[in-house]
Amino acid sequence: MNVLQTLEPIVRDVIAPAAADTDQHARYPRAALRALGQAGLLGLVSARAVGGLGGGLPEAVQAVERIARDCPCTAMVLTMHYCGVALIEPFAGDAVRRAIADGRHVTTLAVSEAASRSHIWAPAGTASEGDGPDDAGTVRLNALKSMITSAGEADSYVWISRATHGEGNTLWLVDSRLPGLAIPSRFDGMGLRGNASSPIEATDVRVPRDCMLGADGEGEPIKARYLMPFFPTLIATTSIGLMQGALQRAVAHVSATRFSDTGSTLGDLPTIRAWLARAWLQAEQARLLRDATVASVVAGDADTRVRLLQVKAAAAEAALSVTEIAMRVCGGAAFRKEAGIERLFRDARAASVMAPTTDVLYDMLGKALGEGAAIAPGVPGVPGIEPAAA
Ligand SMILES: Cc1cc2nc3c(=O)[nH]c(=O)nc-3n(C[C@H](O)[C@H](O)[C@H](O)COP(=O)(O)OP(=O)(O)OC[C@H]3O[C@@H](n4cnc5c(N)ncnc54)[C@H](O)[C@@H]3O)c2cc1C
Repeated sequence: MNVLQTLEPIVRDVIAPAAADTDQHARYPRAALRALGQAGLLGLVSARAVGGLGGGLPEAVQAVERIARDCPCTAMVLTMHYCGVALIEPFAGDAVRRAIADGRHVTTLAVSEAASRSHIWAPAGTASEGDGPDDAGTVRLNALKSMITSAGEADSYVWISRATHGEGNTLWLVDSRLPGLAIPSRFDGMGLRGNASSPIEATDVRVPRDCMLGADGEGEPIKARYLMPFFPTLIATTSIGLMQGALQRAVAHVSATRFSDTGSTLGDLPTIRAWLARAWLQAEQARLLRDATVASVVAGDADTRVRLLQVKAAAAEAALSVTEIAMRVCGGAAFRKEAGIERLFRDARAASVMAPTTDVLYDMLGKALGEGAAIAPGVPGVPGIEPAAA
């Protein structure tokens, strides 16, 4: 299928017209999800065998980038959905896989916790086997998830807990309507306001044991294999689409805004042209690194892990800078909602603090350098360099 062709009327008729409202009223983009579902795009990365479109990371990237240009909220909700599907597809039963492929089921990733904070590899939430007479075949989940996109809106959560037995973490597919799940406070965020990124509290939530995704204690290796290609790349892609949207709006504003005394436009000022050129370079560098990352994932290159860490950090930081430049070159006008720039400035802040945060990624990348990761293709690293943050 041609993802962009399918998407274009949905962006034009549903997503873009609702974008301001989504932000201003922190309204979850339900109509957008319905339209995406009807077009088959909620099942974009679902297997054809269950009725999905059989796409992969390259197709998901196209969809998320296009949507993020007009509504980063919708793009991030879709990002988390595709990430959840990446873990559901290999392990869950056909019924839920078919519902996703049919556009009837939205999922999301419920990883971050109030206790473990950015250390998402070390959840404090538990999954324990009950010992009551009616506990057979079930486990009880207890956790306080800190900020989960689509909380209370998604049909299911791909949930991580500590292992039921022994070391490691375990993944679960949790029906979002189960008793014991609560949203203690509603999300009223600075950016990505329409995402319903609220906390989720789980108190003795009874989940059938066969909702386990993969084996007990194997959550981290499973995430590394199935989730890793999608998660950093698609969050980076939200930032990339967002930067393109900010540049489009900034260029439109400076080209159309004139000084009455000279008749020239803001865009005629060499300083403004230079700022925009800088922003454009940053956006393009991130996009090209993203394309290299996708190519690396598809080819199964040895440096894929490093690329995945790099791309999220690079795109998130570039988006901070590009939206700051867009604010600067558009002056006071950028403060007004009509320009659409201040909203992108606020939305851009999220990717950098979404775990793994940029600072955690810098630490991981510094360690990889110290362990001799290749500095560039064909340029071997030097094992033993002590990274600053080690
Ligand atoms: C809009 C939005 C949507 C989100 N959606 C989801 C979702 O769908 N699912 C989900 O699971 N989570 C989601 N999150 C949560 C997110 O992934 C992070 O867990 C959360 O943003 C981290 O916030 P915190 O306050 O716990 O950070 P803290 O851990 O308190 O971090 C504070 C600062 O310390 C730094 N820091 C922390 N640990 C280290 C370290 N080891 N090395 C270096 N620096 C460190 C951080 O970089 C940060 O600068 C979302 C967050 C936002 C903002």
